[in-house]
Amino acid sequence: MSQPVHISFLGGAETVTGSKFLVKTSEKTILIDCGMFQGLKELRNRNWDNLPVNVDDIDIVLLTHGHLDHVGYLPRLVKQGFSGKIIGTAPTLAIAEIILRDSAKIQEEEAKKANQENYTIHHPARPFYNQHEATKTIELFQTEEENKWTNLSTNIAYRLLYNGHIIGATYIELDIFNKRFVFSGDVGRQQDYLLSPPKKPEYADFLFMESTYGDKLHPKENLDEMISEIISDTIHKNGNLIIPCFAVERLQTVMYLLWALYKKNKIPNIPIFIDSPMGNNVLEVFNRFPQWHKLTSSEYNAMCNHMNIIESYKETWDTIDDKRSKIIIAGSGMVTGGRVLTYLQQLIDNKNTTVLLVGYQAEGTRGRQLQEGAHEIKFYGKYYPVKASIKNIESLSAHADQNGLLNWLSNIKNQPEKIFLIHGEPHAMDAFRLKLKNTYNWEVTIPKLNSTIELTL
Ligand SMILES: [Zn+2]
Repeated sequence: MSQPVHISFLGGAETVTGSKFLVKTSEKTILIDCGMFQGLKELRNRNWDNLPVNVDDIDIVLLTHGHLDHVGYLPRLVKQGFSGKIIGTAPTLAIAEIILRDSAKIQEEEAKKANQENYTIHHPARPFYNQHEATKTIELFQTEEENKWTNLSTNIAYRLLYNGHIIGATYIELDIFNKRFVFSGDVGRQQDYLLSPPKKPEYADFLFMESTYGDKLHPKENLDEMISEIISDTIHKNGNLIIPCFAVERLQTVMYLLWALYKKNKIPNIPIFIDSPMGNNVLEVFNRFPQWHKLTSSEYNAMCNHMNIIESYKETWDTIDDKRSKIIIAGSGMVTGGRVLTYLQQLIDNKNTTVLLVGYQAEGTRGRQLQEGAHEIKFYGKYYPVKASIKNIESLSAHADQNGLLNWLSNIKNQPEKIFLIHGEPHAMDAFRLKLKNTYNWEVTIPKLNSTIELTL
């Protein structure tokens, strides 16, 4: 008997963020990821819309990993009445908890600020969700082991498989009436400082494939050389090196890089300060789940002991007053908020300061302005001249590039019936569509945002 399955692309379609894929079958309705839209305002405004589906019909949410664009809409889903289980690996749920609590706090602060400064069109401005709503969501979390099949009903089962990218990240295999659905999640890199290479799927009847870097190859950079030069220059100038950094994974990677350079005698024993409350929480996740990354516990401890991990905002000011040449790693990665603002406000107008950008800088952020050579920059309503020298590292991505994505698909033994490209900008998806056609002779569909496709099994 033929079985209809409906797939609704509620986010992460025609764009990178907001991943939400609803799989509706005769037995169960499953939501894969429940992310927030990020980036341009038009996209962010979509976060306020209720899902265009009946939330009561959703039986379960399966998460690929803990990034905001994969989990950030969950409290809204719960507000709309979802009360089922939210499943992910233990480290994914630990990261998701950190991200949701931080996101709720930021939403509350922004609503408060909008009301105080009266720049809202909503009266009063409300947070997208608050900390209480985040807590209610976290109560629905349930841990699942990696690489273990779990039955959801007679004809539906799922498993989560290691995917690199960030700690805990997986792709998801879903068997529905003997057909294999594969949701790639975000695919990690073959070579990563902290994570092992991703596992690869062996069968896929219906494939939902991310394409963030579908049109790009990561540049080859000699990071050891670049970083040790920047540090020796910093010491020579008796200045400070400030590294704005994402708290999840990137911060831990940069810590590891610096510690490894010190161990190899490539940099001297310059003081290193880590100033990111959220980063400290993520570091604790690395400590709790040693089997999910490559550091041994003695390496982890030695790395942490080599750094000065800042706990309080008072210590931030003590660090600024510290006259020694030093390295400061602080959030946020695109200089949109966090402790890094305090450091830059104090030190950006000093020609002995170096700012090293180590991640993607989105349009409209201070990070992008610095990257593009802005001569002044605004903090807390006041302009500061940029006298610091600005450096850039491009190769520290947590995503597979075009070759990595092709490689991830190379173990698939059958001809998939349908391939959907998701989680990419239109130009990246189009380039990757052509690449898949040329490499594997696969026909690819690029689904529209909020479209529903019926498959007959
Ligand atoms: Zn991700």
